[in-house]
This record gives sequence, C-alpha cells and structure tokens, in this order.
Amino acid sequence: MSIRWNQIQGIVFDAVGTLIEPSPSVALAYVQAAARQGVVVETHVVKERFHHYFRNDEVDDLNGPMATDEVLERRRWRRIVGNVLPDLPNPDRGFEELWDHFSHPQSWRVFSDVAPALDMLEAAGFPMLIASNFDRRLRAVLAGHPEFEGRVEPLLISSEVGFRKPHPNFYEAACDALSLSPSCVLYVGDDPENDVRGPRRAGLSGLLLDRDSRRPDDLPFLPDLHVLLDNLLISGVGVQA
Ligand SMILES: [Mg+2]
Repeated sequence: MSIRWNQIQGIVFDAVGTLIEPSPSVALAYVQAAARQGVVVETHVVKERFHHYFRNDEVDDLNGPMATDEVLERRRWRRIVGNVLPDLPNPDRGFEELWDHFSHPQSWRVFSDVAPALDMLEAAGFPMLIASNFDRRLRAVLAGHPEFEGRVEPLLISSEVGFRKPHPNFYEAACDALSLSPSCVLYVGDDPENDVRGPRRAGLSGLLLDRDSRRPDDLPFLPDLHVLLDNLLISGVGVQA
C-alpha cells in the first residue's frame, strides 16, 4: 500500500533509532558497566544477548498484552540487564548504573538529518509529535538536545499512555495528541512492526526509516529524513514502495 501523501496533515516520529541513538552503543555501555565490577564480557556477546532479550521481553502480561507503566518499564529493564549481564557480582548496581546512564542526554546522539527535517516540516506547517516506547527518562534526554527545543511537547511516551506500540491505543493517543483523524497521520520510524504495520492496522499511514539499508521489500521506506518533506509536497517522489 502506498502512502496517500496528499491526505497527510501531521507526522508522528518514533524516537530511538529514528531521531536519536545511544552513543556510545548500548553494547559498549553494558560492557563498561560489567567492567566496573571486574567482569569481562565481549561486545558481540552483549550485542547478541541484548538483541535476543530486548525482543523477547516486550511485555509484562499480568496487566494484559502491551500494557505498561513506569514500574513495569523499570522491572522490564532490570530483567533485560540481568539476562544480558548474568555474571555481575552486584546486579542491582549494574542495573542502577545502566538505568541512570540512559537517562542522560549525553548518552544519546541526534541523527544529523533530524534538525533540518524538523525545521522544514515546521516551516511547512506540519504538526509533529514524538511518540516512543520509552519511559519518563525520555523527557530529560530530549530536553538536553537543542534540536528538540520547543518540540518536546506534546511528547507521547508508552509508560505514560499505558500501552506500548504496537497496541492500537498507543496510535489512537498519538492521533488525539495531534487532534487529527488516523487517516491524516503519517507515522515515521525505524521499526517495521511498531512504526509501519501497527500504525496501518490502526488506520494511520506508516513509513519505515531505513537508516541501516535493510531494504524491506514489502514496506514503503525512506533512507533518511532529508526526503520526507519532498514526499509531503510532491506526491510520492523518492519513496520506494
Ligand atoms: Mg525506534
């Protein structure tokens, strides 16, 4: 399904992998946390474990699939850290240090195409919303980067909405925050399920930001944010569907 560009009146951006990314990498941050406790673990091992446990620890089903809040997010991350670094002498310290690390703006970098894209969209009059599977730490992270000055409100965070992507309530909350009907909203992000297929099921348009050149053959995608405005102003140009 191609994007109906002429209907789009508002844009929702995912945060991690779309606007910002951990810097140093997640794997390196975990390796360093382990090293502070005298545990040597290889980066590629951390990377593989993180990938596995992050993907497989999306939910705390006691409250229903994809339900979340601040307590559940913290508990979830404690499990992930425990699984990725099982040999820490002091697992609580390891978790607390990593939880704190990722709460600081300086632990994240903003992709270079973000500021120009947001500037152009703002100038073109497109309402924008940042909406993320994250917890309240995201507010401080974004507030610490000038690229997001004046753009972090409204900000939609799954722990505050009560549901994680791809739960339909999350996308409904995004449309409500923009005061637009789903058919007028385009979701842009780096995750095929959370940012493209999930939004589509909820009646929005979804566009994959394919920064890693995965080139999915069944989804419309953009290589970066530079061409986003072109696509909004000139129907379909530059989008591979
Ligand atoms: Mg993402």
